[in-house]
Amino acid sequence: MEEKRIINIFSNSSSISKETRNVLKQKLEKCGFVVPRHFDPAAELIVCVGGDGSFLKTLHRYEFPDIPFVGVNTGHLGFFQELYPDQLDEFIFKYKQGEYEVQDLKTVEASVTVGEKECAKVGLNEIVIKGARSQLVHLNMSIGDSFIERFSGDGILVATSAGSTAYNYALGGSIVDPRLNLLQITPISPMNTTAYRSFTSSVLLPSGLTVNIYPENEDDRGMLVVVDGMEQRFSSIDKVTVDIGPNIVRLLRMENYDFWTKVKSKFL
Ligand code: NAP
Ligand code: MN
Repeated sequence: MEEKRIINIFSNSSSISKETRNVLKQKLEKCGFVVPRHFDPAAELIVCVGGDGSFLKTLHRYEFPDIPFVGVNTGHLGFFQELYPDQLDEFIFKYKQGEYEVQDLKTVEASVTVGEKECAKVGLNEIVIKGARSQLVHLNMSIGDSFIERFSGDGILVATSAGSTAYNYALGGSIVDPRLNLLQITPISPMNTTAYRSFTSSVLLPSGLTVNIYPENEDDRGMLVVVDGMEQRFSSIDKVTVDIGPNIVRLLRMENYDFWTKVKSKFL
């Protein structure tokens, strides 16, 4: 008996996304693929219908599965999303022929230590550490074994290459080609006065160098750790350790995909 070829399809709740999901499901089933109602870990592909936000949410919900993703853009920007709803037939044809490439995206991981407890986080775009209230925060930061600075400002963002075009870019950080395996540390509203001194530009780190951030919690107003836009509140964080993550996100790209062409089409 021939093996079943399973494809998971997820969509956000907009009517165009739901409609696109149904159309794609029918088209795939006609070609002999099985499209289960719920997430099936045996699937060979995950299709995500929505914008970048819904792609990120799907990724987190299924804990960074080792299955390739392809996105159908019904959202606003669609930086991760490779297809539009009018390209479904063309996509299925090319997918069956193996006419696509797989883009490997690195992740960022953080380990948040509070007393004896440790909490692990993984992100595709970035990890942000910032104050829970609109007041200055002080974050002591070391890179590798060296103490670097006592940062004063709103917070610190650590972006992957894939995430460099998101929040990082809005903060004045650099756009990084995702083929580069690095982390970008970007300050969020750094203070630079005779009272407080912080780096005002991003710094880039190679893989293998660990960043440690030690918040000062004098009157403990609480800190937020925000991963790909999803926040969790902590109080009295002792340390946040940030590294390149263990997970790789695999995105299907069609043959004419080019990162810089995509950047140009979305930003200029
Ligand atoms: P959102 O607040 O609804 O929108 C953030 C915007 O960023 C959307 O237009 C989204 O695309 C786009 N985006 C997401 N990842 C991107 C990437 N890697 N490259 C370029 N653009 C990207 O939040 P969301 O849609 O759930 O996305 C979460 C991301 O929002 C976070 O990871 C963070 O990077 C970003 N964010 C940005 C700011 C800022 O720029 N000031 C502030 C907070 C968060 P779609 O329209 O296709 O969804
Ligand atoms: Mn969005």
